[in-house]
Amino acid sequence: MKLNFCSLSSGSSGNCYYLGNEFHGILIDAGISASSIRKFLRDMDISMQTIMGVLISHNHTDHIRGLEVLTRKNTLPAFTTHAIWRSILSPQKNISRDCIREIGLQQKFHLAGFDIEAFPVCHDAPETVGFHICAGDKKITIATDLGHICQTAAPYIKEANLLVIESNYDEQMLMNGRYPYYLKKRIQSDHGHLGNLQTSVFLADIINDNLSHICLAHLSKNNNTPEKALQTLQQTFSEKGISLNGKHRISVLNRNSPTGVIRLVE
Ligand SMILES: [Zn+2]
Ligand SMILES: [Zn+2]
Repeated sequence: MKLNFCSLSSGSSGNCYYLGNEFHGILIDAGISASSIRKFLRDMDISMQTIMGVLISHNHTDHIRGLEVLTRKNTLPAFTTHAIWRSILSPQKNISRDCIREIGLQQKFHLAGFDIEAFPVCHDAPETVGFHICAGDKKITIATDLGHICQTAAPYIKEANLLVIESNYDEQMLMNGRYPYYLKKRIQSDHGHLGNLQTSVFLADIINDNLSHICLAHLSKNNNTPEKALQTLQQTFSEKGISLNGKHRISVLNRNSPTGVIRLVE
């Protein structure tokens, strides 16, 4: 069985991730235009016909920008919770009703050969979820918008073989930057975003041999750089005596373009 993961785009300007086997695939979030999604998939030789659905994490534009067109033009089923649908559908009236699929929190469902569970995370939207996806014996967890890692979310994150986790801002850049004080506080709050240090300290606590791939995701355009996210992780690990001896592959996901395909199963 083949199993490939690719980030098409990751950051505060737009999020979309692909996971697929040799037969089918799914998207996680549709925060870039539908035409960009189609183009990026085409560039990777992935046919839109093989995409069986899109999972939606919450109602912020950087996660649903392309959703309306995907449901109308591609009649792509979209999966999220009742509360998130409610928050999406009141402003976005043109989403095709035929494509709406409601899922329960922490209730497994099956799509495209994957067992999928949505788990709640703390973020400043009416409801936000992360996704835990089982494909054979591989487990993928995606948590891109969360102010802190709560007790409900932690077990899904700890179990992952491939973890896509937010590393949104460098603490110094945010504090010294030009954002108004209230916005800095909101980003740093328990319902905002995870900073580089927060993510690094958490990862240092949970790192284990099963965690083969760590993808630092959802970097801020104004308050972070890929170098700072990576340096903070490396420094935190080295301070805690953790050596990255080739067992764990670490990538920082590009903000506006795909990041190389990760082959979990060849
Ligand atoms: Zn976001
Ligand atoms: Zn958000």
